[in-house]
Amino acid sequence: MTGLTGLRAVVTGGASGIGLATARLLTAQGARVAVLDRDVSPVAEPLFAVEADVCEDASVRAAVTRVAEEFGGLDILVNNAGIGAIGTVEDNPDEQWHRVLDVNVLGIVRTSRAALPYLRRSAHAAVVNTCSIAATAGLPQRALYSASKGAVLSLTMAMAADHVREGVRVNCVNPGTADTPWVTRLLDTAEDPAAERAALNARQPTGRLVSADEVAAAIAYLASPAAASVTGTALAVDGGMQGLRLRPAASS
Ligand code: NAD
Repeated sequence: MTGLTGLRAVVTGGASGIGLATARLLTAQGARVAVLDRDVSPVAEPLFAVEADVCEDASVRAAVTRVAEEFGGLDILVNNAGIGAIGTVEDNPDEQWHRVLDVNVLGIVRTSRAALPYLRRSAHAAVVNTCSIAATAGLPQRALYSASKGAVLSLTMAMAADHVREGVRVNCVNPGTADTPWVTRLLDTAEDPAAERAALNARQPTGRLVSADEVAAAIAYLASPAAASVTGTALAVDGGMQGLRLRPAASS
């Protein structure tokens, strides 16, 4: 017996990075886990792979129904699928605003409303959204991405209020910069990837990026019955970046 034995979970964006680390950890803790992703080619058993695009309502509903039928119900929904955007408010065209908000915000709306009928029937229902430090700190060159994650934070609180009396808890994690394929792709586009990585490390009070496994551990806690009294919260997993104000290393 482990903490999630007998529970059934869906992880969106579970084929890479934070989502894949979460799917593996939930499995290790005893849950049956389905990965919902637009590209499930990296997903291996015992994970149950379901290809779906969170931007397509019919695809999401069909995927969630298939998982619930396969598992005989659903207890945990991890809304993790997300995409990035770089630039100030002047830089991204309207189409890109629509696209990023569609994936990062409406994606959560679509999976949540498809899953709620099943979650209401669970004795341990939990939704965990992957938000970001971009929701709570002003980061340069992240206007669109931050707006999308600010919406995720507010949606998390609103959903927590709406569903608490139905026995469905809703929380989010706010990772700092995490060492995932996403960040590797970002660094690959920098003029000097090594210098860019050093700058990102230096921005963290801990001096290093957050790992996908560390974010997964926070998600697994919020999803577990151990967090039965935790709802409507945002758990920062950011190496202290949001809350700490350090003096430069030489003068500390
Ligand atoms: P990643 O790119 O490694 O993984 C994202 C996954 O989401 C991919 O498997 C991708 O196929 C899937 N996905 C994207 N769009 C989709 C869609 N429309 N439908 C279904 N699946 C889709 O990224 P990651 O770094 O693991 O990021 C995961 C989440 O963590 C995102 O919500 C991101 O905003 C958030 N986050 C990441 C960081 C970071 O520094 N990496 C920091 C804070 C928050």
